[in-house]
Amino acid sequence: MAELMERRKVCVIGAGAAGLCATNHFARSSNFELKVYEQTNDIGGTWIYKEATEVDENGLPVHSSMYRDLRTNLPAAIMNFPNYRRLNAEEPCCVTHQEVRTYLQNYAEHFDLVKHIQFGTRVESVRLKTSAGGKEEWSVRVKIMKTKEEEEIIFDAIMICNGHYFDPYMPTIPGIENFPGTIIHSHSYRKAEDFAGKSVLILGAAASGVDIAVDLANHVTRVYLSHNNERLNNSLGPNIIEVLGVEKIETEKIFLKDHSFVTVDVFMFCTGYWYSFPFLDESCGIRVDDNFITPLYKHLINIVHPTMCIIGVPTVVVPFPMFHIQVQYFLALLEKRASLPSTSVMLEDSTLKTLKKRHAHKLMNKQWEYNDSLADAGGFDRLPKFYKLGYEIWSSQRKASPLNYKQAKFVISKDERSIQLFLPN
Ligand SMILES: Cc1cc2nc3c(=O)[nH]c(=O)nc-3n(C[C@H](O)[C@H](O)[C@H](O)COP(=O)(O)OP(=O)(O)OC[C@H]3O[C@@H](n4cnc5c(N)ncnc54)[C@H](O)[C@@H]3O)c2cc1C
Repeated sequence: MAELMERRKVCVIGAGAAGLCATNHFARSSNFELKVYEQTNDIGGTWIYKEATEVDENGLPVHSSMYRDLRTNLPAAIMNFPNYRRLNAEEPCCVTHQEVRTYLQNYAEHFDLVKHIQFGTRVESVRLKTSAGGKEEWSVRVKIMKTKEEEEIIFDAIMICNGHYFDPYMPTIPGIENFPGTIIHSHSYRKAEDFAGKSVLILGAAASGVDIAVDLANHVTRVYLSHNNERLNNSLGPNIIEVLGVEKIETEKIFLKDHSFVTVDVFMFCTGYWYSFPFLDESCGIRVDDNFITPLYKHLINIVHPTMCIIGVPTVVVPFPMFHIQVQYFLALLEKRASLPSTSVMLEDSTLKTLKKRHAHKLMNKQWEYNDSLADAGGFDRLPKFYKLGYEIWSSQRKASPLNYKQAKFVISKDERSIQLFLPN
């Protein structure tokens, strides 16, 4: 009888969209024995809306940054994993967070993924170990949240899918310590009524800043949208006033870059998040410096210990299909259907290519070339073209109509070679 090949043990940290995608692809290969650890009691990660903002039912800091009335900022059709296209809303083409959560639950059910997940179990530490035979292994210490019992398990490979939107980044603002009003980060924003009748300054006009400004507009007296990017101009509605970035605060006066000042009841940071891997021991070799993670090949593979990868690092991308590509590439590497380039090539790839470290993982228009390069190197299908077409037409509309772009009708042609987008009147 042929000798059975020993199955390699793979650990997945987190059961959000990335962890579920990893589970899906790895569970279908007979080469691996899979274990997924999820600290909460459910799947979906950031798509699980929690009214609480401090601690969850397991006594852990609330992970999700979802707010009550959030609709996706991408058309649902291009959020689909390519192997499970069931988010089909055409109009309005952006769906509620509940719909995305249901989609992820259906995805998990369809591919029978839940049996691999150990819920209520937090990964506390990941350390590199060398086996008696000289092989690199990962020692993973987990804590069962209910009993507080801890356990240490050895794995051959590890996929970090812990999410990147839970540790608020708040730039230093001189004088903020004396600001008499409320200070909040978008991570803790839940609903507009909590700010009824107040005036709010939102710092940052990326996806969350603009979205929350629009969410608040009908409930508050005024929203100042403070940022230094290109102006969004007149398309925001009368209650949202675009102002420059914040220079300093002197008690109740918030001074802007043009030396004018505004006064508000609430100062809200919509300034994004830190990449955070609190469980990674130094032996793993991963460093985060001003939100620049090194040394990673293709924003994904730990160059010094390539049996570790981090899923979902690139920003300003379409995340679910990108996870689908990243996971398959890592799988191809472990199955030796693909091989890594030389260390020097990988290290060059991981050098800083942007002016600021914290923009190092921003891909935007480069995401399609990035996804294709992984698919080609891994020898699997590229993403269908409609993702890119849809994203491009979508991005331009979003800029032009930040108030109503989510209500648009988004139609993919039958042959999937063209997209039509109809904005509401
Ligand atoms: C407000 C907001 C709006 C967004 N809107 C969109 C949108 O419209 N469209 C879109 O495509 N994307 C959107 N995103 C991006 C979204 O983050 C991704 O779509 C995707 O859900 C990320 O999945 P993930 O699995 O990487 O992370 P998460 O969903 O954050 O999941 C990570 C999981 O890991 C678990 N975990 C973390 N640490 C540990 C540990 N130590 N041990 C065990 N488990 C752990 C967490 O509990 C969680 O379940 C939005 C994000 C935010 C915050």
